[in-house]
Parts: sequence; structure tokens; C-alpha cells
Amino acid sequence: MDNKDDRYETTDVVICGCGPTGAMLSGYLSRMSVKHVVLEKEGGITTDPRGIALDEDGIRLLQGIGIYKSVYSEIGTCMQLFKFIGGTQKDLHRDAFLEMDYATTEGGTGHVGFICHKQPILEQHLRATMASDFCQLRSQCTVMEISQDLQWTYCRYRDQDGQVHALRSRFFVGADGKTGFTRKNYLEPLGIRMEPAHNAFYDETWVALNWQIDLPTQKSHPDFALWSLGYSPQDVYDLFFPANFRFICNPLRPAVCGRFGLPSDRLWRFEFVVRPGEDPDEMAASEKTMEIISPYITHKGKGFGLPQDVQYPEDCISVLRSRPFRFAARDCNRWSHGRVILCGDAAHVFPPFGGQGIASGFRDAASLAWRLSFLTRRPPHEQANPPHRHESVLEGWYRERKQQLSASLASTIENGRFVTEANPLRIFLRTCYLFVMNLVPRWRRELRLGRRKEGLIRYRYEEAQDGDQHHHGPLAMPFMPELNGGLCLPQVYCKPVVAVGADRARGGEREREGARVFFTDDVIFDVRKTGLFQLLVCLENISELDDARETLSSVNDVVVDAGGTEDEICFDEATYLIQDDRDVSKLQCDKDLNSAATDGSMRDLLAPVLPPPVYQLASAEEFAGSPLCEGRPTPQGYDPHYLGKALGRGLQYVIVRPDRFIFAACRNSDELRTAVAAVVGYLRG
Ligand SMILES: Cc1cc2nc3c(=O)[nH]c(=O)nc-3n(C[C@H](O)[C@H](O)[C@H](O)COP(=O)(O)OP(=O)(O)OC[C@H]3O[C@@H](n4cnc5c(N)ncnc54)[C@H](O)[C@@H]3O)c2cc1C
Repeated sequence: MDNKDDRYETTDVVICGCGPTGAMLSGYLSRMSVKHVVLEKEGGITTDPRGIALDEDGIRLLQGIGIYKSVYSEIGTCMQLFKFIGGTQKDLHRDAFLEMDYATTEGGTGHVGFICHKQPILEQHLRATMASDFCQLRSQCTVMEISQDLQWTYCRYRDQDGQVHALRSRFFVGADGKTGFTRKNYLEPLGIRMEPAHNAFYDETWVALNWQIDLPTQKSHPDFALWSLGYSPQDVYDLFFPANFRFICNPLRPAVCGRFGLPSDRLWRFEFVVRPGEDPDEMAASEKTMEIISPYITHKGKGFGLPQDVQYPEDCISVLRSRPFRFAARDCNRWSHGRVILCGDAAHVFPPFGGQGIASGFRDAASLAWRLSFLTRRPPHEQANPPHRHESVLEGWYRERKQQLSASLASTIENGRFVTEANPLRIFLRTCYLFVMNLVPRWRRELRLGRRKEGLIRYRYEEAQDGDQHHHGPLAMPFMPELNGGLCLPQVYCKPVVAVGADRARGGEREREGARVFFTDDVIFDVRKTGLFQLLVCLENISELDDARETLSSVNDVVVDAGGTEDEICFDEATYLIQDDRDVSKLQCDKDLNSAATDGSMRDLLAPVLPPPVYQLASAEEFAGSPLCEGRPTPQGYDPHYLGKALGRGLQYVIVRPDRFIFAACRNSDELRTAVAAVVGYLRG
């Protein structure tokens, strides 16, 4: 091993592949100060927009690496409704038999349900987050050999000039896509296999088309029939390429279509199934695709009182992509072997109906990054005892991820079944069922919530697998089910509570700041904080603040007693969130806080320093009036108490993992002591 030292350049993590998953992992590793090298075989970002839909978890994870501002201004736009339209009539304006409303903010993340985006632009923004002292992106570098021993992984890659380089790292992550090198060439011979994830889906071939649409004008198309009826070019576009995403549940040829990217891009996706016996390449040729799509972009003349049918001018349509692709629902039996790990499409692939491909890779990345962060914090000689600790950590990681994957797959299957159902009896029964569901407001609301009706995921605790002689950690999965751990922490909006009197004495800066609204993730995981795990203190009202603060100081010693450090969990960084709807700063600050400040009890806590440690819930209206809402729909259906309700009464002290999952939610100092010791125990192995 030692003689390898000279021949290998050394880093902590190597990521093979810089698609959305690799870039997201790199972004989080940079935030966590983990040194890594990203090897990408292509020279630039692929220009082919494959993925177009990203769910609210995905948006939240983009927010987590600091690019929320670009989400609606540069990356995409809210997807609004998913409309499921039935029958064999080729009319995009038919009434939907089912609508899911993804424009609302009911999912518990504070975001809309889905955005539609342009994958290359999304990837550009992701790459911008990688730039740091901790990351080196090496483009045109193709991994061609992987090996490992107990402490290191080794890889060789070829650069653009054909030179071969050797790289050694503590962990090697294959984020190299569904046909990637890591699985096929290194892990499959070691027994890792892509297996069907669900028997509801057989592999199917579809054609995916991307069109870029120009607007016809009276000058460019003087004979176009709708000008005489007063239509503007934009009206024409809206008529033929309507907003909202459509699932065309036509038993003869299922399809999906809708806009993507920014509205100004005028991009349109149409995907349709290739029937048995049809040749996929032939079906993707322009003659065939026009034959299939043109009925959808042709309107009967009689609807406009015109003698002839109206079709969108073909010369205003540019084809950016038209290609068959095969989809399947598959995932690997194991996602790691020793120190070599798979994530994103390299570990699992989805049918396209739920927009879960990119978001799943993002979830893999965010939940892996913090584990790699603590696994690489200590030098190899310390980590060698116990030598297989990383294996149980990684197994715990992918077993959690597999639970989430099943949930994502369930919604994908539900959408897929609507689209591909061809049996007339089942279609009839479905129509009856949906008719009844729509009559009852609560059921109707559930239908409109779509995949969000299940709420945020809660992991089920699984013991380490029997016979796993490598399992040494105190927890197989890093959360405490007996202390309410395992739930994905909801995100709400909040605003700082300011000690008005103290602040005014210093120029009123914090009072002005008090008008600002934040996402709770951004204050809990403020980039300036050092602790890997964070502490959130949820209080019913401000009068509980002193007691809570005392509880924290009484437990503070546990971190050190358990052998931990402030890099792992730091009580001084705790975020206090007051669940009171009333404006605490206006109603009570002058009175209560300033009088408390005179006896010194809350002075430090509420002193006008950055970042303010005490927050209270902000309303939908306050969010709507804040810069965070610019460009996105104002929150509809937002419940500021979502977080409090999800936690349940009395669970005041919440230890949150960096991937936004609750490690433990505690009622009192005893529970908190137990939980903090468990955090340190887990992180220290
Ligand atoms: C038609 C279509 C529609 C889709 N629609 C959606 C959608 O609406 N929503 C959604 O979420 N997803 C969608 N997807 C899926 C989505 O595009 C993928 O899930 C996503 O790109 C996976 O990201 P990844 O980073 O895991 O892998 P990839 O994007 O495949 O990236 C892998 C990277 O690894 C690099 N690489 C490979 N081998 C090597 C090597 N040996 N050395 C160095 N680098 C290497 C590749 O060049 C590539 O850049 C769609 C896919 C298709 C084809």
C-alpha cells in the first residue's frame, strides 16, 4: 500500500460523472469542506434537455446549496396543474378527468409541487455551486479502472490528451448514469445488480421530442386564419401549446406533453409510446412524429366559425430532439461495496411519469454528502478502528434511500397506470371511482394533492441485516425512532424576533431586518454554522424561551462528555422558532423582552446580532411580500403550523441531520441528553 502513496494523487472523495447527481453531491461536499475531485468524460454540459420536471424536494435541495434565487428566474417555472385527459379524441383542451394541482404550497417544504426546467440550465447552475477550494472538476477525463483496499480507493482516468492519471481517495462515488462505468465494469462482477424495482412496469420504449416554438406574426404569416378573429401571436401560442402538463390517457397511444423551461424559451415536450411491432427509430423520424402530434396541434375550423381547420404553422417549430428511449423501474440490490458507492441513475432508474429521476439523484447526493463528510473527517489511521464502520454507515444510507425510492415509485406507478391503461372495463371503473371521489370535497382535495397527499416521508427504522458482521455502530440508521426520529423535517417561513429596545439603541438595524422573511432551512443550516447536526428549538410562545435556553445549557456538556466536538453538534448554534402567530416582536418585544433584557436573562440571546437566533412563524402574506416570492406563485394552501403539527405537541428539542431528517425530537433535557449522546456515538462510530 505504502509504495502506492507516491504514484497516486490523493483526495478525500472522487466523483465519477458530473450530471445532476454528481454536481449536487459536489455542491454539498464543497459546503461541508470535503476535498474532492470530479471526473467527467464530456467537455461540457450535455445540451440535450432530458429531464424537465423537478419536484419540491428537488427545489428544496437546490435551495440547500444556495441557488434558490435562480430557481424561478433562470432555471424553470412552476408546472401548475397535471391534467389527465382520457378518450381517443386528440384534443388538448378536453376536460380533464383528474387534475393534480402542483402550484400550491401544501407539500410541507414551503415550495410549489413541481417546476418544469431545462436540464442543461439546471446543470449549469449546479456546476456554479461546485466552485470552491475543496472541489476540482476535471472535464474530458474518463475513468477506466477502479480498485480499493480497506482504507483507500484507487482509480485511473484518461484525460483529453490521452494521458493516464492515478487518483487515490477515501471514497469513490459512481454518479456516472444508467450505463455508467462504475457499476458495469467494477461492481457488477462483484455481485451488484440492477434489478426490477416493481413488477407494475415492464421495460417500454417511448419517443421524447423537444420543440422550440416561434411565434407566428401577421407579417410572417399573413394568411393565418386566427388574425381575423383578433388573436395575438401569444394567444395563438397559448391556444396550441397550452400551459399545464397533460397526461394523455389515450388507450391507442398514451402520451404526455407540456411546456418546459422559462416561459420566454417557449419549449414544448411531447412523449409518446412506441407500440409493439413499431420501429423506435422510425417512430422518432419527423414524418411519423408529425403524423402523431399534428392532430393535437390542429383545431377544428367550426370551433372558430371558420370553413377550414387551423394548424400551428409548421415553420415556427424547430425540433431540438426526437429520440426513442427505453425506460424501466430498476434499482441496484446494493448501492455500495466497500468504499465504492453508486448514486443517481447509476443506482436506480425510473419511468418518466413522476418526474423523479433528477430529484432522486439529488436526494441520494444530499444524504450521502454529510455521511462522507464525517467519514472523512478523521485521518485514515483513526478510521481503521473499527475498519468496516463505513460499510454500515453506507448500508444505512442506501436502505433509507430505498424506502424513499419506493415512495417515489408508488406515485410514478399511479401516474403511469392512468396514462397507459388500455382495458375499457378498468377505464370505465376508474371513471366511476374518480367521479365519486370528486363529489366529496376532502377526497377531491386529496386527488388534487397528487403525490403530496402522503405528506413528507418518514423513514422506517430497520435493524442491521442479520449476519452483518461489519456492523459496529450504535445505530443501523442514523435516527432514533423511540424519540420520534426519521421524519423529513417540514420547512416553513419565519422572521426574526428582534429585541426592539436593545436594537434601537444600536441604530435599529435588526428592527428593519425584522421585516425579512426566511425559509427555516436557511436559518437552521446557515452557512456560517459549523455543527454537522443542528438543533431546532420549537416553542409555543416566547415565554418559554428562558426555560428552553436553560435546558440547553444544562445539556451542553454531553457533547464533550460523549467525546464529541462542536463540529458535530453545537448548542450555541441552536435555532429557536416560536410558533405563535401573533407578531411577537411588535406585540411583546418592547414589553416582555426588554424587561427581561434588563435582568440580563435574554439580553445575549436577543441581542441584535447576525444571524438572529430567535425566529417566529411568518405568514403566507408576509412571504408573498418578501423577495423570496419574486417570480414564483404566491403560497396557496400554505400552513405555517405544518412543522409544529408534524412534530406534535411538546416535542421542543429537535436534532436535525444535514439532509433535513429528524434524528430525534425530544420533550425534555433527559431525552435531549440521550439523543445528543447518540448523535456523538453515531458520528464517532
Ligand atoms: C427522455 C428523458 C426524459 C426524462 N425526463 C425526466 C424528468 O422529467 N424528470 C426527471 O427528474 N428526470 C427525467 N429524466 C431522467 C434524468 O435525465 C436522469 O435521471 C438524470 O439525468 C440522472 O442524472 P445522473 O447525474 O444520475 O446521471 P447522468 O445525467 O446520466 O450523468 C452521468 C454523467 O457521468 C458521465 N460519465 C459516464 N461515464 C463516465 C466515466 N467513465 N468517466 C467520467 N464520467 C463519466 C457522463 O458523461 C454524464 O455526464 C429523463 C430522461 C430521459 C432520457
